[in-house]
Amino acid sequence: MRYALISDIHSNLVALDEVKSYLNDEKVDAYICCGDIVGYGPWPNECVEIIKDLQKNSLIFVVVGNHDWAALELEDLMKFNEDAREAIIWTKTELSEENKKYIKELPYLLDDEKFTVVHGSPRDPLDEYILGAAVFRHNLTYFKSNLCFVGHTHVPFYFYSDGAVRLGEKQIVGEVKILLEPAVRYMINIGSVGQPRDMDPRACLGIFDDEKKEVIIKRIRYDIKKTQEQMRKYNLPSFLIERLQWGM
Ligand code: ZN
Repeated sequence: MRYALISDIHSNLVALDEVKSYLNDEKVDAYICCGDIVGYGPWPNECVEIIKDLQKNSLIFVVVGNHDWAALELEDLMKFNEDAREAIIWTKTELSEENKKYIKELPYLLDDEKFTVVHGSPRDPLDEYILGAAVFRHNLTYFKSNLCFVGHTHVPFYFYSDGAVRLGEKQIVGEVKILLEPAVRYMINIGSVGQPRDMDPRACLGIFDDEKKEVIIKRIRYDIKKTQEQMRKYNLPSFLIERLQWGM
């Protein structure tokens, strides 16, 4: 099976459409989504509906993110900076009741023998940032598979451990293929579709091939100006609009 890997869409429909059309051409069998469907961007309902459609056809493994949760007012808004908070409050008023209900029913963590899916970390699914190998190591006892997909930092990255001597981390720059070795446990941050923060403004996504035992990280150009125009229309914070063109 080939799984599409997407995360941190953040209501950026233009980026999501571009990523989806690339993945359609790639003929993936299923999707894995690490949460934060909404927050920051101008199309929350449209993005939730795309994820819902994939779920209708049982094509997606999806978990909730901290911005999704906050848009239901289930997360303390004071945890967010001012711009993020303003966007969350706007998102809350925009989201339909039906889409809120859908978000509310999403799990925090999916964990089976084959792979694990979570937004932040297995230890603290909504809030923890895996920023280094030490944090990764502390999380190893909180999931059972050898392959954990995360999002949340918006920076593609991976960590690995053989449980004995090897423990490491690597930032993913541009397009990279990660070959998964047997008996090594990985945590792969699949970056962000809708608001990348690694100074590369292109949408980030991945493909996991469970037969070839590899994960490929890809970058896709999308019409950033179109998303920015829509954000201006709704008076979303200017820093959130500008950061898209810098990928920061
Ligand atoms: Zn996010």
